[in-house]
Amino acid sequence: MKLVLALLLVAAAAARADWFEAPEAAPAPETGAPQPVDQRWWVVLPASGSAERTRIANAGVSIEEVSGSTVGGVADRRALERLRAIGIHPSRQTELEKAHLLAFPQPDAAFHDYSRVKSELAATAAAHPKLVSLLKIGSSLQGRDLVALRFNSDAKGTQKSAKPGVVFLGTHHAREHLSTEVPLLLAKWLAANAERADVKKLLDSRDVYFVPLVNPDGAEYDHAGCRSDAARCSYKWHRKNMRENSDGSRGVDLNRNYGFHWNTGGASDDPGSDTYHGPAPFSEPETQAVKRFVEERPNLKALLSYHTFSELVLYPWGHKYDPIDDGPALAAYKAMATKFGELTGYTPEQSSELYIASGDTTDWAWGERGIFSFTFELTPASSWDGGFYPGAKAIDPTFQKNIAPMLYLLEMADDPYRAGITGGGASK
Ligand SMILES: [Zn+2]
Repeated sequence: MKLVLALLLVAAAAARADWFEAPEAAPAPETGAPQPVDQRWWVVLPASGSAERTRIANAGVSIEEVSGSTVGGVADRRALERLRAIGIHPSRQTELEKAHLLAFPQPDAAFHDYSRVKSELAATAAAHPKLVSLLKIGSSLQGRDLVALRFNSDAKGTQKSAKPGVVFLGTHHAREHLSTEVPLLLAKWLAANAERADVKKLLDSRDVYFVPLVNPDGAEYDHAGCRSDAARCSYKWHRKNMRENSDGSRGVDLNRNYGFHWNTGGASDDPGSDTYHGPAPFSEPETQAVKRFVEERPNLKALLSYHTFSELVLYPWGHKYDPIDDGPALAAYKAMATKFGELTGYTPEQSSELYIASGDTTDWAWGERGIFSFTFELTPASSWDGGFYPGAKAIDPTFQKNIAPMLYLLEMADDPYRAGITGGGASK
């Protein structure tokens, strides 16, 4: 299936010749004028399995898609040099600023920026005061609020609750704008449908949180300079937060900064890399805020972190190839991931089957806190369908597709282990 897909992609690529204007050879090291530190390329690299993909990840490439025996991802100049040193050469290489076909082809007004996320969350809380409350769980590096919406029929604000808790997180990675839209729209949907019998039953018995924008600084930077009336917007392909690193580069990869087996593979020591893990575990205010939020709520039983793209459902471990060693939990993870896959069409797998990545949210939440934790890589399936920038048309179908998985996770949150006994079904 994947091979067929790859062949179709090759055919599609041939039809989009201008995507391949950039030279296919890696750039020669240059002397003289310094290069812009954030100059990066979309690269397609040969990789026939998870071990080869991990070598590529270890070189500092953020792998974004796997297609047959190749991967696509983002590399800076030094990552390209490290790849060359280990004998891996891109078959395709496109400077990101020149990859116009991957940027939004039309105005992007349907996406929510930081201020609109805040105002929509506040309006939802205000319209449903008996059920919904607005929380600030921390501040970003540049001082923006990290805002959460809470659904609880009894407890409000930061009041404790003994009900099984679930948290949905969005936009650890700045350019993954669809991962803001999905949790935001799911929260609004939940509020609007709170009286539906099945939804009401869940909301009466659960403590539910949405944090749609974990990395507001990076997200704002990614679309800064885009005008809503522009025919074409040059997004910045920014992944990380806005930390100013000592070498002049910008950002720490928040999804490599969590403190469980931090910096043990698939994360870069190079501050310029897209997968830079930061100077220390939890060095960043955004990951500190999530850590504190989780630690203050021992009732949390499940976590779902939205990313884009590739249409995958991932579960721990990411930092090593071994499966988790708790047999009943592993059975539950596999059953729930399979169910998520059935509901979405996304492919379920252990995170490290893709490649090793350490310091991510879900390894920490499971490894340190015992919270059943999943990563969804949302729409689209590939860069040929728009990659990080699929356009506003992707918002509604992606959101609609993710309603049933949200309800399923809420349903299972009282005892996720039972998924391993029932084969994923909600009943015991
Ligand atoms: Zn991501």
